[in-house]
Amino acid sequence: MTQIISGREISDEIRSELKDQVAALKAEHGVTPGLATVLVGAEPASQMYVGMKNKAAHAMGIHSDQITLEADTSEDELLGVVEGLNSNPEIHGILVQLPLPDHIDEGKVLEAIDPLKDVDGFHPMSVGRLATGSGDFFAPCTPAGVVEMLVRSGNDPSGKHVVIVGRSNIVGKPAAALLMRKAPGGNATVTVAHSRTADLAAVTRSADILVVAMGRPEMITGDMVSEGTVVIDVGTNRVDDDTREKGYRVCGDVLFDEVKEKAAAISPVPGGVGPMTITMLLANTVKSASLRAGASV
Ligand code: NDP
Repeated sequence: MTQIISGREISDEIRSELKDQVAALKAEHGVTPGLATVLVGAEPASQMYVGMKNKAAHAMGIHSDQITLEADTSEDELLGVVEGLNSNPEIHGILVQLPLPDHIDEGKVLEAIDPLKDVDGFHPMSVGRLATGSGDFFAPCTPAGVVEMLVRSGNDPSGKHVVIVGRSNIVGKPAAALLMRKAPGGNATVTVAHSRTADLAAVTRSADILVVAMGRPEMITGDMVSEGTVVIDVGTNRVDDDTREKGYRVCGDVLFDEVKEKAAAISPVPGGVGPMTITMLLANTVKSASLRAGASV
């Protein structure tokens, strides 16, 4: 029978461990991990994500500050807010919700975040440390969630051929870097495919583990996957569906019902990578607070 890799269940397991760590940090070091989320504008999806992150932080005993700024906030004003959070000792993690309005240089803002508080893992120093394996770093949350799902479901990527479809800076590239690391959760042989890959199906069929992050609804079909493959679907897409009350449904980049018939294990959408992303943000915040407190991580 195909194993269903539930991001919800694995996420609950990690959140329960984190709750214990938060309690221990408070009891033994007098430190409450603090997360600040910064939202510029009122884009509904971003508002929803930020709200979910703050709610999850509260449930864990993590102090969270949600800073909401007007859509016409200037780049300088935003940089000033980030600077204030950098020097706030109660804040261990800073997340600036992306995308930012067009008039703000995203790269400049991400670079302004103190790398020691870069719990989203997008600062060039975090990216560099992940790539070189030097020093401590915060791994970007979605790829870190993918690795946790593989390891905790008993599908360790070590020695396996992992094919990643997608080469974005937030999913595909960091996933490749994490999976090829000479470290637990890594040691895979990694192939990265993208829109210019010739014969995508031949590449995906060669995978022991297939990680899909394309943003193309249900594009990976049964014939593109070999028997016994482990499939992690990062894709989160809304597609019109008149049969649903809301008029749409959420699906992944993998045609679940078809691919499930061939896969040894597969993650669903929703209930797969989605919950893991928030959990890894909380894990990074607790890690940041622990490092600052001199506690073991
Ligand atoms: P991007 O659009 O930034 O990247 C998509 C990647 O897929 C690109 O590298 C692109 O190739 C590749 N691609 C697109 N079409 C094809 C194709 N036909 N064949 C092969 N490769 C293709 O997306 P993201 O990485 O930001 O996100 C990917 C998906 O993951 C989205 O559905 C997103 O919503 C979801 N996501 C989910 C998260 C979660 O928490 N669950 C978090 C982040 C993302 P090229 O580079 O050549 O253009």
